[in-house]
Amino acid sequence: MADFLDKEITYLPGVGPKRAELLKKELNVSTYGDLLRCYPYRYIDRTKFYHIKDISPASVYVQIRGRILSMTTQGTGRSARAVALFSDGESAIELIWFKGVKYIMERYQPGHEFVAFGKVSEFNGRCNLVHPDMETINEALSKQNLGGVQGMYNTTEKMKNGSVTSRTLQKFVSEIFNSLGNARLSESLPDYLLQEYHLMPLHEALLNIHFPQSPDSLRLAQFRLKFEELFFIQLHMLRQRNVRRVHFAGFKFDKIGDIFNNFYGKHLPFQLTNAQKKVLKEIYADMSSGRQMNRLLQGDVGSGKTLVALMTMLIALDNGYQAAMMAPTEILAQQHFESISKMLSGLDVKVALLTGSSKKKEREVILQGILDGTIQILIGTHALLEDSVVFSNLGCVIIDEQHRFGVEQRSKLWSKSERPPHVLVMTATPIPRTLAMTIYGDLDVSVIDELPPGRKPIGTIHRFETHRHNIYDFIKQEIAIGRQAYIVYPMIQESEKSDYANIEAGYESLKSIFPEPHYHLGMVHGKMKPDEKDAQMRLFASGTTNILVATTVIEVGVNVPNASVMLIESAERFGLSQLHQLRGRVGRGADQSYCILLTSVKLSNDGRQRMEVMTRTSNGFEISEVDLKMRGPGDLEGTQQSGVSLNLKITNLATDGEIIQYARNVANDVLEKDPDLLLPENFLLNQYLDRLAKESVNWGVIS
Ligand code: ADP
Ligand code: MG
Repeated sequence: MADFLDKEITYLPGVGPKRAELLKKELNVSTYGDLLRCYPYRYIDRTKFYHIKDISPASVYVQIRGRILSMTTQGTGRSARAVALFSDGESAIELIWFKGVKYIMERYQPGHEFVAFGKVSEFNGRCNLVHPDMETINEALSKQNLGGVQGMYNTTEKMKNGSVTSRTLQKFVSEIFNSLGNARLSESLPDYLLQEYHLMPLHEALLNIHFPQSPDSLRLAQFRLKFEELFFIQLHMLRQRNVRRVHFAGFKFDKIGDIFNNFYGKHLPFQLTNAQKKVLKEIYADMSSGRQMNRLLQGDVGSGKTLVALMTMLIALDNGYQAAMMAPTEILAQQHFESISKMLSGLDVKVALLTGSSKKKEREVILQGILDGTIQILIGTHALLEDSVVFSNLGCVIIDEQHRFGVEQRSKLWSKSERPPHVLVMTATPIPRTLAMTIYGDLDVSVIDELPPGRKPIGTIHRFETHRHNIYDFIKQEIAIGRQAYIVYPMIQESEKSDYANIEAGYESLKSIFPEPHYHLGMVHGKMKPDEKDAQMRLFASGTTNILVATTVIEVGVNVPNASVMLIESAERFGLSQLHQLRGRVGRGADQSYCILLTSVKLSNDGRQRMEVMTRTSNGFEISEVDLKMRGPGDLEGTQQSGVSLNLKITNLATDGEIIQYARNVANDVLEKDPDLLLPENFLLNQYLDRLAKESVNWGVIS
């Protein structure tokens, strides 16, 4: 029966080589099994009809029942089209076809009753349906008997041109079931799981996901398929984690020695927050366990992750090993180096900085120090990954701002040690727990959910561009009392027609609003050379420039405590997590700070919602939840670069949080009873994971 699912789609009646190629290209479908796993993206209730008079552009998809009053061809050449005037007895709407005009004219004759389904579009102030799905009333009624609910499949423009529509796909699926005859599709989950968790068998689930027999059976089918999808991901990740625990002994760092104690007792200028203490305990429990640590540290901007990272490295040092810290940009690496060197001053710890711009001589000295072990902490950028960087005994690796690094880079650091070093991955773009559980399912997660005391919340307001001048006055006041400001523009766009502020033009006009010699302006953007950028950053950090005009290059990690105002131009063009990251650049000192979101008066609903969230809360976790709901996981920062292609076919990470947790618990139970999945009842699971491992080499190898 497995062979049945592996049959090539070309051989399915009605497909043939041409359409098979199309399916392969557009949907990545090449076998029966692939097509069965192409689920409808939505369902329409065939028993519900819209009144034409109620249709508005906001209706999106509508199904209407009525008669064609007239058929005409309009336009010539490329804009030739067939237009049907379609009436439900009360009012009428135009149905329009741009392709196959001749065929359409023949096929749809006035007087006949049809059911039309399609997306509402607007032209010249009137609604119409372009290329609607048409069924005769008899066809439509016969489907109502099948529960009334019909699946709609994703199709692309190319597929439509090759006359493969949603309806064609559905026909293909029904052909698959036809050719199955009385046989059943083989089950992918062990029987005992189906029993214990009341799951619909695969055969029924696939049948119902494509041809729902009732709303209830559709729900059961969806649950079963979501569960299966998530269960296998969790099973895979948890098993990876177990394998690593069993097969790779980690360094056992159970000594808390002089360096750590000295630092903690004598050099720490403040009390750790409870959240920092809790996280440090979790980290120490990992490092002293004899297993390799693989931990994700989530914490909002300014929550004090760097300090936790430093103390983690000190544990490695106390146990006689080196530590490395990798940052995504030179500026950030430099800042870490400076702040860590400062915190460690007076302690006998050798820290070095290695970046792409380290001079040759200096570089040689550093490489030597790393090799002979005299350098204990190495901070740097991607430069740390180069083959020439050889450690004497690397015991611990910190990766800052994780989303900028891919999986491969992380595994490269892994290999710089005879045993895998302990790994702590830090991210300042918090992601919702359910998403973390899915993407980083084989990492343990620690969360710093508390800011150090005394932080004043950043006053965030949303203003329209028309108020720009009041805001400039406000910035002048802040500068007058010695503070500094960021003015942030969206990335430079190549389109000159763009109605968005362009940073260069903005910079010029700002120079006349904040004229020399009274004010000093600096500018950084992604098209500048790294050393120019660096020089500009330094001028701002030292207080020489009052205002830094910038793009999102300042987003990550930069620390200028004296900067108290951030003005974000065209704020509606930024995503939520980006806005949150940007805002985190102010509010780093003792002063009250402000973030002003400037937008055009015309705002989309989405844009308005983003501004509303930003002004309402400064909690990064809350913001990322909203972001996930608004944009879906695919666009969330961190998802794409996580290196794990999730390829979820049915799960919605934003709304299926409970099933994710459920699936993880079940996977955990299964592995607890049978860690290597060797029991006969788990044969199917073992087989599936084997297949998965063969198909995707890098899958889940997080660090
Ligand atoms: P992030 O989590 O964004 O990396 P940092 O580690 O840069 O945050 O910390 C932000 C600032 O807060 C730094 O200036 C740091 O010295 C300070 N800080 C960290 N922990 C504490 C604490 N427990 N009490 C007071 N200030 C702290
Ligand atoms: Mg940081």
